[in-house]
Amino acid sequence: MFDHAAFDEHEHVHHATDSATGLRCIIAIHSTRLGPAAGGCRMWSYANPGAALTDVLRLARGMSYKNAMAGLPLGGGKAVILGDPARHKSPALFAAFGRVVETLGGRYITAEDVGVTEADMSAIATTTRHVAGLPRASGAGREQTAGGDPSPKTARGILAGIQAALAHATGSDALSGRHVAVQGLGGVGGNLARLLHAAGARLTLADLNGERAQRLAAELDAQVVDGEQILRIEADVFAPCALGGVLNDDSIPALGAPIVAGGANNQLLEDRHGEALAERGVLYAPDYVINAGGIINVCGEYLGQWTEAEVDRRVAAIGDTLGEIFREAKRSGRPTHRVADAMARQRIGLEV
Ligand code: NAD
Repeated sequence: MFDHAAFDEHEHVHHATDSATGLRCIIAIHSTRLGPAAGGCRMWSYANPGAALTDVLRLARGMSYKNAMAGLPLGGGKAVILGDPARHKSPALFAAFGRVVETLGGRYITAEDVGVTEADMSAIATTTRHVAGLPRASGAGREQTAGGDPSPKTARGILAGIQAALAHATGSDALSGRHVAVQGLGGVGGNLARLLHAAGARLTLADLNGERAQRLAAELDAQVVDGEQILRIEADVFAPCALGGVLNDDSIPALGAPIVAGGANNQLLEDRHGEALAERGVLYAPDYVINAGGIINVCGEYLGQWTEAEVDRRVAAIGDTLGEIFREAKRSGRPTHRVADAMARQRIGLEV
């Protein structure tokens, strides 16, 4: 473990099994210096347990950085459940996972991630209090606070980030008349496209689900292109809101926009692709900074103290944080993802 390439001084790494339900999970707690380690639970059929360990370690560290940069009183952690969500899910399995979370006594707070739904979170909540991302109506007194599907807040944060990038690159944050290419039109990309349209932007859209793209394009008077073509569109901004790894050796030379600012996690296939973007003169909004709206919402829900207005204020501040990163990158001549990592580590008190 200590020699693992992704270990990076994790405080705790737990694994647990439950033979009655078939649960096999790993919970990685990267840092609790800023507060309890918060991060979603992913269910995925990994090729082998080693791949699950690598994934959870990388994701947990990413949550430390994300939570620190969002100014949240939270550390970073993540959980993975090994298994195929389509075949191995049951309420009993999630209840067993909740029991594991409960044994950690609040050092780790769980929420949704890939392969895990709001309904699964409700099953987890039968056995632990340390859970967020529950359906909005559950729990008395939650009405005044945040909660529910985090993707609308994620989209709001991305909108603020796009404006910050435009302001830095062009001197104006106005969206009216700007052309934005959005890849992926699910919870995040769909909400983002609607917000951009409402602000007067012109849109080009792409989704693997062609029908979804056509329907949204009709609603927003937008163009549709297929899959890979969206990267090449000559737009003001490219907003990747689908899967990770989208910025790589093949895509970077083909990018048609001078700004990349979108919600997908792990957009850089490898860290060196951040350098490649900077060398091409593309302004990149580091993914974990711009897509923090969802975790801000989750934090508000878990703490139970923030009003929706407070959540919105913090989400809008994502634009200010990005502005700071862009200015420091320009001043120091370093790529934006390196500046963000260094700021995050400094905020957490880790070696830079
Ligand atoms: P989602 O599953 O609701 O939507 C993803 C959409 O992308 C789907 O419509 C899918 O058809 C489409 N898609 C997948 N691959 C594609 C491709 N190659 N080209 C075009 N379209 C493609 O997911 P989501 O909740 O909208 O999340 C999108 C991304 O944002 C993910 O990377 C997620 O990890 C990240 N993210 C989401 C949140 C949140 O609040 N939901 C928060 C932070 C980060």
